[in-house]
Amino acid sequence: MTETAFEPVPAVAPSEPEAGLGLVVMKFGGTSVADPEKIRRVAGRLVAAKRRGGRVIGVVSAMGQHTDELVALAHNVSPEPQPRELDMLISVGERISCALVAMAISDLGHGAISLTGSQAGIVTDTAHGKAKIVEVRDRRIREALDRDRIVLVAGFQGVSTDLDITTLGRGGTDLTAAALAAALGADACEIYTDVDGVFTADPRLVPEARKLHAVSYEEMLEMAASGAKVLQLRSVEFARNHDVKLHVRSTFTDEAGTWVREEDERMLEKAIISGVTHTVEEAVFEVRDVTPADLFGALAEAGVNVDTVIQIGSDTVFSAPLEDRRAAEDALTALGADWVERSELGKVSVVGAGMRSHPGIAARAFATLRELGVEPRFVSTSPIKIAFFLPRESVEQAVQALHDAFELGSTEAERAHA
Ligand code: ADP
Ligand code: ASP
Ligand code: MG
Repeated sequence: MTETAFEPVPAVAPSEPEAGLGLVVMKFGGTSVADPEKIRRVAGRLVAAKRRGGRVIGVVSAMGQHTDELVALAHNVSPEPQPRELDMLISVGERISCALVAMAISDLGHGAISLTGSQAGIVTDTAHGKAKIVEVRDRRIREALDRDRIVLVAGFQGVSTDLDITTLGRGGTDLTAAALAAALGADACEIYTDVDGVFTADPRLVPEARKLHAVSYEEMLEMAASGAKVLQLRSVEFARNHDVKLHVRSTFTDEAGTWVREEDERMLEKAIISGVTHTVEEAVFEVRDVTPADLFGALAEAGVNVDTVIQIGSDTVFSAPLEDRRAAEDALTALGADWVERSELGKVSVVGAGMRSHPGIAARAFATLRELGVEPRFVSTSPIKIAFFLPRESVEQAVQALHDAFELGSTEAERAHA
């Protein structure tokens, strides 16, 4: 397996946008294309953008829960599907939806062409299931745009340097959109989804959560890493590294959503905390008497992306993404380590760029949890985040209480627009 350590600059230099003609990348998530009626609506939105005079690239996810269904199907057939074949299978969902959107656009009287990730020139390393983009060979997309077509690209996938089909990790259609926006020098990268933008907490859990007008890349990275699945973590990383501004907004309305971009003064003035995020399931391991060098060496070898690390005497606690759980367990067993998995834990995190310059955030958060009678098992911090590992059954009430304690439901917490 050849795995690249980072997502490099696409090898194709962005061209100057042509005078008067903007290029827009519009990404639609699974719920936005969940049935034929919604597919026709997405087609309508792409055509409307084209009519406004732009060059339009649509990037689509698989319909509804199709990727989950394909993953489950694979596991019904085989207990441990071969990674290459699993990618071959699960990349299919996006091919279906982008072909359907292209058909619906033709019915509206416009030219459209659907392309797989491979046809669109998205070249990746060979790490199946979490491939990194090494290059975007965008000639075919450019030619189609020059022929006045709306170009549909199947999200979440590419072709490896060994010419196999790869996928970019769950939620990876966001990454396809950011990568195409960077490679083609798009004026906008719009992420259309089933909520109105990025909120101060998951709006499905906290009804009074507010939409944020703007979030910095750093905050969004922390939020995505700690459970706000509205944007895939790697897509935010890519957007930051390549200076792509993301606009997260609703598929179902024309309202402005949330801009994810460089931090500026106005972001810091008003809100100290931008959001409270959570996960109900975490892969947390406690390991005894193994030197950290040996432990993390073995985990790196096994391709495990270690998230949080806490060292307590000769014990090490670490967490990893859920999809790496199995690889971590196997690596710990192979190491002959004395380890236990803390599968009863979830995580609640408080994130905000203003935290850097405002003392007392940790004090308020700990006091809030104490009032609830919830005792964090582990705590980890970054300059703009405090994360509490808690018993899973306490997660929801902790999110709600911290959201209240930092007054995130109030209009005062709102940020000015760019
Ligand atoms: P898509 O299919 O469009 O990619 P996702 O399901 O990946 O959509 O992401 C959108 C979901 O993210 C929302 O339905 C919402 O429940 C969830 N979510 C979690 N945290 C947040 C947050 N802080 N702001 C907005 N949405 C969030
Ligand atoms: N369909 C893929 C998934 O469910 C990619 C995406 O939706 O972004 O993970
Ligand atoms: Mg998503």
